[in-house]
Amino acid sequence: MIELEEGILSKVITTRPSLSHKGDYGRILLIGGSENYGGAIIMATEGAINAGAGLITVATHSVNLSALHSRDPEAMFIDWRDKNLAKSIQKMDVIVCGPGLGTSDFAKIVLKTLAANISSDQVVVLDANTLDLISQDLSLLPQAKLIFTPHQMEWQRLSQIKIPFQSDTANLVALKNLPNSTDKILVLKSNHTHIYDQSGKIYVNSTGNPGMATGGTGDTLAGIIGGFVAQFGYSMDTVAAAVYLHSLAADEIYRTNYIVRPTAISQKLPQLMKKYSNI
Ligand code: AMP
Ligand code: MG
Repeated sequence: MIELEEGILSKVITTRPSLSHKGDYGRILLIGGSENYGGAIIMATEGAINAGAGLITVATHSVNLSALHSRDPEAMFIDWRDKNLAKSIQKMDVIVCGPGLGTSDFAKIVLKTLAANISSDQVVVLDANTLDLISQDLSLLPQAKLIFTPHQMEWQRLSQIKIPFQSDTANLVALKNLPNSTDKILVLKSNHTHIYDQSGKIYVNSTGNPGMATGGTGDTLAGIIGGFVAQFGYSMDTVAAAVYLHSLAADEIYRTNYIVRPTAISQKLPQLMKKYSNI
């Protein structure tokens, strides 16, 4: 097991070459935000934007359009009931699916659309309700390069390993047993988040604080992971750097604040990324 240190940031975050354009930093689609959970997909979107993803599209309930556009004009929008959702999925490098998705019958249709239109060279970050729906029906698991971001209860439902028996060995076996032939990375969130890949490599995160224990912190992380993979590629190190940076930003805020608003984490990212790109 390797404890994450700030060196992971300078390793992953590179200086942008002057001859570059938005297409070089990845196309990302964020799917989520049912009628009463628009905030979750907006917070994930802010994570992805501030982490530097090149082209960002959000597929969500139409009721979220004005809130999304007024907060985040950088993001494009698609109504998730639009038949073009399938085409949009096919064009993406990275898809983040789950924040505020809900568990309705329509949410299942969205996951079926995702599974039917994804290819094995694309990356999918599976978060929140997506994990719950997949626990109930493993055929919804997309055949792509996967990143699972459960908290411990979501992992209990997906892996069938009960808390407190979630040992590293058990988690690795459960990850390998999930029916997907391509790559899988597991981010098991807690106050000491563990990150696993199928080779048996394990990172443990050392940053983070109890000010983060509020709704939206995980949604923000899903967006940041998506934004990092869109720019720096799919790897254990890319995911680890995103996890480390998310809670490093939160630690800076927590030093002088009683709680850490998830949106404040996102706002800190560009400045921290600049710092580590120069080291
Ligand atoms: P979620 O439960 O999906 O909202 O995710 C919560 C996020 O906040 C994860 O990234 C956790 O690692 C982080 N988090 C929550 N509580 C703590 C804590 N007490 N210490 C450190 N990180 C925390
Ligand atoms: Mg969550």
